Amino acid sequence: MSFERTQEKLKILADAAKYDVSCSSSGSNRNNTNKGLGDATGMGICHSYTEDGRCVSLLKILLTNHCIFDCAYCVTRKSNDIKRAAFQVQEVVDLTINFYRRNYIEGLFLSSGIFKSADYTMERLVAVAKKLRLEENFNGYIHLKSIPGASDELMKEAGLYADRLSVNIEIPTKEGLKLLAPEKNREDFLKPMLKVKNEIIQYKSEKHIIKSTPKYAPAGQSTQMIIGASGETDQQIMWTSNYFYEKFNLKRVYYSGYIPISYDSRLPQIGTDVPMLRENRLYQTDWLMRFYGFKVHEIVNNEHQNLDLDVDPKLGWALRNMEHFPVDVNKADQLMLARIPGLGMKSVGKIIQARKFRKLNWEHLKRMGVALNRAKYFLVCDSRDFERRDLTGPQLKSIILQNSTSKYQKILSPQLNLFE
Ligand code: SF4
Repeated sequence: MSFERTQEKLKILADAAKYDVSCSSSGSNRNNTNKGLGDATGMGICHSYTEDGRCVSLLKILLTNHCIFDCAYCVTRKSNDIKRAAFQVQEVVDLTINFYRRNYIEGLFLSSGIFKSADYTMERLVAVAKKLRLEENFNGYIHLKSIPGASDELMKEAGLYADRLSVNIEIPTKEGLKLLAPEKNREDFLKPMLKVKNEIIQYKSEKHIIKSTPKYAPAGQSTQMIIGASGETDQQIMWTSNYFYEKFNLKRVYYSGYIPISYDSRLPQIGTDVPMLRENRLYQTDWLMRFYGFKVHEIVNNEHQNLDLDVDPKLGWALRNMEHFPVDVNKADQLMLARIPGLGMKSVGKIIQARKFRKLNWEHLKRMGVALNRAKYFLVCDSRDFERRDLTGPQLKSIILQNSTSKYQKILSPQLNLFE
């Protein structure tokens, strides 16, 4: 294989992989063993940020962009007139090792179009990971896409070599999937996810008894949903996420604003804005559910099916539920403190510690780094003045928006710009 041809393939297959955002590698703890190559401990996302804010890089490619399916929202769909390419298993292994040795990457994110069948494709993805681990002694991070419909045996093998596995459910609702990818079946996504979940549980419990039990997908599994391609509400999206977190113990659900790539009348037309701000609000809501004790129905429900774009979901909830405020920071429990706009979990922890020794006032809160420009309307402390002065939710919203132009009126980065 000539160098030029490999380069051309790399260009095509790296470009095709860029639509997948589900490549966070945080959470893995595969250590370098036996003088091998790489160390996946604490590594992160392809040219993006880990949950602790570090930027890392992965070789992010498809094995092939040939596909037997014709999902309307996908650039790789079989009816799309694009250049196609496919790597051999050994080529991906060689590229990964070469890039790693040159310090270009810290791991591999490997996905694929489906060629011939789900198993035929999955077998090759697993073969790449297996060769890297067993023949090249590679201990860097590996994230493999699970191919919907792949057999249990292949899914079981995949988790023995990959740090993270993910199946993209792509479209948040069954109806949307039927409309845009009628050949696909939701069960085909769920089956490998369930297998991976069960294997993770089983391997973990065996490890308690037999120390030499290998790790199975130590960074867990994740999925991705495309947002804005099929007319779903934020309420539907968040209930879908909630279902996947609860039913399959997912580490993360990723939200990817649909990038118009076709003139298909079922989809937003080319030139339509990518819903970046909506994507950001969904990440924030996801964060509230996972770390702040919010339930889906509190943030999105039949009366409020879509998230506010002008304020973050925690502030939006507070403004619609003013009867819960003001919260007394010297008395409230952790859950209620976490609901005060402007207070992140770090500040909540500091407040709970500090109030053991003294009653807290504005000055104390300021020194702790609480964002008082918002929080002051929602709390009372050991100071006289209370900033809300019987304002209604809409009045307060207008004051906060006027005073917070930079925070609420610019388009925010889609990930990780969450709560203070
Ligand atoms: S099966 Fe996957 S790669 Fe193939 S068209 Fe559908 S979304 Fe794209």
